[in-house]
Amino acid sequence: MHILVSNDDGIHAQGIRVLATYLATFAQVTVVAPDRPQSASSHGITLHKPLYAEKADLGEGIRAYQVNGTPADCVKLGLGALCHESVEPVDLVLSGINAGSNLGHDIVYSGTAAAASEGALLGFPAIALSLTGEPFDFMACAKVARLLIDQFVLHGLPKDTYLNVNVPPGGYEELTGIEITRTGVRQYQNDYTKRVDPLGRSYYWQAGEIVKLNNEPGTDVYAVEQHRVSVTPVTFDFTNDRLLDTLGTWHLSLG
Ligand code: MN
Repeated sequence: MHILVSNDDGIHAQGIRVLATYLATFAQVTVVAPDRPQSASSHGITLHKPLYAEKADLGEGIRAYQVNGTPADCVKLGLGALCHESVEPVDLVLSGINAGSNLGHDIVYSGTAAAASEGALLGFPAIALSLTGEPFDFMACAKVARLLIDQFVLHGLPKDTYLNVNVPPGGYEELTGIEITRTGVRQYQNDYTKRVDPLGRSYYWQAGEIVKLNNEPGTDVYAVEQHRVSVTPVTFDFTNDRLLDTLGTWHLSLG
């Protein structure tokens, strides 16, 4: 099995190193990751400047590249060019392990989700892996990834879907189960601190606190609150089906 690994925390992040090292014990691993942190970069791609893929050292047996682009760039370039040099075709795209949650609406902003999403858009099965809080136990998440990979081998995954996986903090033994979930609601109380730079120009520094919302059982947010691993299948049909009939009653006419 050949697994392409990317992330949004960058090639130097502990999460991607632990994951790649663990995967290399049972699979062929190619890592293509941003050369710097790219969290909350969403699904942007680079069109107006060249992308450089430099060889990186992630240990023996791991082919690794660092790229001056976004997480989506890395997966696109990996699948579209860099992995063409390998004998075995890519079977699976993994993104992570992210140091922080990607729950509910987080996946709109998440570079971790975007890397998996790009894999799925290009027709490859993909999984996004995140640890939801400290203490970060990357091995616990890597073991969860292994469980999912074993099931993926048996059952496959549809090509228009990626799995968004969130693992609660603490060790593997502290997890209370694995739950298949739907995306919950996550909101932040955004706070902008206004400051003045040495040239006298105002600038804003953004911070956000999570708003405590009551998420229902069955959602990703609720599952991790119960110390369960959350696995959400995410797809690309953005259409709001509930509104199709309603909008049909609007009197829209071009005259
Ligand atoms: Mn991140």
